[in-house]
Amino acid sequence: MTTSSDVIEDAPQANDSQGTTATGTALPSATLGGEQKRSVEQITLLLFIIVPFLALVAAVPLAWGWGVSWLDLGLLVFFYFLGCHGITIGFHRYFTHGSFKARRPLRIALAIAGSMAVEGPLVRWVADHRKHHRFSDAEGDPHSPWRFGETVPALMKGLWWAHIGWMFDEEQTPQDKYAPDLIKDRAIRTISRQFILWTAVSLALPALIGGLVTMSWWGAFTGFFWGSLVRVALLHHVTWSINSICHAVGKRPFRSRDRSGNVWWLAVLSCGESWHNLHHADPTSARHGVERGQLDSSARIIRWFERFGWAYDVRWPSRSRIDSRRNTGRDGSRRKRETAKAA
Ligand SMILES: [Zn+2]
Ligand SMILES: [Zn+2]
Repeated sequence: MTTSSDVIEDAPQANDSQGTTATGTALPSATLGGEQKRSVEQITLLLFIIVPFLALVAAVPLAWGWGVSWLDLGLLVFFYFLGCHGITIGFHRYFTHGSFKARRPLRIALAIAGSMAVEGPLVRWVADHRKHHRFSDAEGDPHSPWRFGETVPALMKGLWWAHIGWMFDEEQTPQDKYAPDLIKDRAIRTISRQFILWTAVSLALPALIGGLVTMSWWGAFTGFFWGSLVRVALLHHVTWSINSICHAVGKRPFRSRDRSGNVWWLAVLSCGESWHNLHHADPTSARHGVERGQLDSSARIIRWFERFGWAYDVRWPSRSRIDSRRNTGRDGSRRKRETAKAA
């Protein structure tokens, strides 16, 4: 059973929901925006969704007609998995759920790598995601595909909402309520506020490398196209699929109070995050793909970090813990109906 305490049980809490500290002073903001999104932010967000997506659409005929160089393909794959693991290991398993502890340099590196995925400032990402776990697929969940109901048209509308629409909601998750532990860390707060800087670095590096290796402007351009635009679009849609597809379809072998499912075909591209049913059944687990053959590259890399001594107190799930969370047939279907009613 997922409870809010599972989600942020390690997170030092603010004294009250207004986010005041013991001395009574308000916590500083960890993003440049306020509690409500302004229209300039909405437009920027729209541009950051549409431009890379157009590149992704254009990429298909371009690759077909002119091919793609090994260098551009390498830039795409490298920056894709850098940002993807920054999100999955950093923003998600570490900062949101505390599934392991990290030495300071790793903590900073994970904050920067995740910021390079261009999915919004760290503290906003974590606040939204903790709220998602607290209310998963019920009233209050920022991005449930079941928001509008159970019929096919309602689910279609809900899938769009869970995939993209929710990001344009004017209401913001209160950061001081959901992520006080991160706001209080000065370096983390700074990296979160520097989101625009890390976005620029993330978009410029592939162009710079492409230009320098080929010593041409054309190389810089194709490096930017494949390594920045196409890569960002692909990563966006895979990440958003965890919110939409993995809460609508997939196997549910584990008990959770929501509609999260395990979707095998997204495992590689999502760096192991599409074993989403297990994740909601045991949110603090450092491993999401717990069965034989369930690829989870994030868990593998956390294991390496542990070997190097950079990560410690890793919450590896024991076999008995995993088994205790399994669905037993009748109970599972009753639970599903209950969730359906709640949604
Ligand atoms: Zn979820
Ligand atoms: Zn989570």
